[in-house]
Formats: sequence, C-alpha cells, structure tokens
Amino acid sequence: MTNFQINPRLIEMLGTSTVPESGQSEVQSLTISILPGKYVRSVYRNKKEITQIFKENHHMLTCASCGRKGKYDLGLLMVNVDRNKDKEDGEPLHDLQMTGYFRCKHCNDAGNWILPDSVKMMALDGIIPFGAGLGDGNVEVGQNLLSDGSWHQYASDAEEHYFRLIEGNPDDSFLWNRLGNLYLSGNRPELAMSAYEHSLTIDPGQVESHFKLGDVLMDIKDWSNAGKHFHQVLIQAQSYKFLSAEDLREMLAVALQNLYIIHEMTSGEIPFLPSLDDMKKVGKLLEQGTQGTVDMELEIFPDRHDSFFPFAEMYMGERAKEIPLKNRTFSVPKVYHSPSKKKKQRKKRRKKK
Ligand SMILES: [Zn+2]
Repeated sequence: MTNFQINPRLIEMLGTSTVPESGQSEVQSLTISILPGKYVRSVYRNKKEITQIFKENHHMLTCASCGRKGKYDLGLLMVNVDRNKDKEDGEPLHDLQMTGYFRCKHCNDAGNWILPDSVKMMALDGIIPFGAGLGDGNVEVGQNLLSDGSWHQYASDAEEHYFRLIEGNPDDSFLWNRLGNLYLSGNRPELAMSAYEHSLTIDPGQVESHFKLGDVLMDIKDWSNAGKHFHQVLIQAQSYKFLSAEDLREMLAVALQNLYIIHEMTSGEIPFLPSLDDMKKVGKLLEQGTQGTVDMELEIFPDRHDSFFPFAEMYMGERAKEIPLKNRTFSVPKVYHSPSKKKKQRKKRRKKK
C-alpha cells in the first residue's frame, strides 16, 4: 500500500498528533485529512488546476532503505558543475539537486535514493552544449541554495533543515513561509497550504503567505478566499519588513492585478480594494488623503501589472519612500475613477478616434 508521502515531523511541528486506527501503521495514519489548514483538502482535490512552478519529471527510483522501486516526480534537476570540478573522473555524479518533494511510497523514508541511469543521463545531457535534449527543460546547470546559503540535495533534506531552524525559533513565521515555498516548488501544494496557514496563525501580517495562498486559491477558482488573502496583502504591506521596497511593490502590483481579475470574474461581487473597515479592523490606515476614496488619475491596463504601481505604492505607506524618487509612480491624487468606470471611459475615447 502506498502512503501520502508526508513527513511525520511536519504533523508534529504543526501541533497535531496522529493516533493510528487499529490495524494501521503510523505511516498509514499520515493522511491528507490530518494536515491542519482550511484549504488543504480543496487544494489537494484540485491539484491539477494549480500552476506548477517546475514541470513534472517522473523517474523510477529505488529506495535504499527498503529496496523497493517507485515512480517519483523529481521536478527540476540542477547539475552543480562547480561542486564536481575537483572530483576524479569516473566518480558518480553526486551533486545533483532536484526540486520535487517526494518520499518513499512504501516505507516513507526520504533522501536515501539510488538514482537510475535515466536521471544520470539526463543530468549529463544537461551540461553538454547542444545535448540530445533528453532533459527537455527539466535540467539546469547551477545550484539551488536556501536563503541562509545552505545546500541540500533533495527537497526532503531542505525540509529537515527548516525543521531544525523552526525548532530553535518556533514563532518565526518567515521560516514557515519559506517551508511553504519549498513544498510549493516541490509540487506539493497541499503541504504548502498547511505551512502557509500555520505561518499566519503565528503572524497574521505574513504578507508573502497571504500572497501565495491567494495565488493558489485563484488557480482553483476559490475567488472569495483568494480575494480575502490578496486584500490582506494590501492591508498588511506597510508593516512588512522581509522584502525590499521594490520587491514588495512588485508583489503588491501582482496582487492588485489579480484582484482586478477576480473583481471582473465575479461581476463585481468581490471588491477590487479592501474596505476602509477592513483596514481599520487591523489598525492599518493609510496616510491622510489616501483613505480608500482617493482622488487619483490612473490608467489601468489589466494585462500590465506595472500599471498598478501607483496603487501598490499607496498601500506601502512609509515603505514607498524607500523607493528612489525617480522610480516612484504615486503622486498627488487628482480625480478618482473606479477601475471599471475608467475602463468604460477609455473605450469611449477609443471610439471617438
Ligand atoms: Zn523505502
């Protein structure tokens, strides 16, 4: 019987415990249903709808712990050429990383793999210029390092590294966000949801987790919850410190662009911007003159996220001042048009021409 490929330590770290039913092994009790999180199950059910960061890349691997074979999604293969250069010829290609998050289907162990020749061939092919194209976009030369500079061969090794860090700092919402990113790029969005949602129980102002939740929920057309999380991105942005001002603006602009789409998709049911009340509830108010009823002359092009920069800067509050003046787009407001009105006006103008 195959299992759900969940690390028992994750369940422990999330503060839930598993009691195996009679006749069940501990591994069998690790199911999607015991993962805490509001969105885990809907995301798991609709996994096919979710944009994959890295293309699926299935290979037969042998688990050295139990000796059994299985097919696993390795994701992107990274060939670490520099790490190999001091090695003698004929040594195995150890320094191969992969983004996929997988564990043995049989014994649930992870990271103890015997790689098949197909993977080694693909890796070699990836480093030869004009190779035979075996990798087909699933191989890259380079290194995948975590934000603290550490190197891990398998996503399941990087996961253990995060667990060690989290054990030392259980209330660090940023670490939980990065663990979520690891699962998401490992093509395990259901695990990512659990990590992101947990980061928000520690800090409701974890803006990057709100953004990722919004993004995944939008893929599965959960407009209402996607909208809620994107609104939170805007509401909480001014106090978020983990991104540079430019990166924060970039993220806010994409959140605004997505909200614009959601607003249209739901025929206006989900508001484009958070309400003043929503802002007040968490004590986040914008500078005077920018309290939701802003007088702004804005040209919005829904397919260009940078046309949302002025709005993004408005929600950044003081943090917008970290952007060099010449790169800022938000100036003294003039006349306010809601995006839908604006669009109609643009259409009219075009007709006249
Ligand atoms: Zn095994």
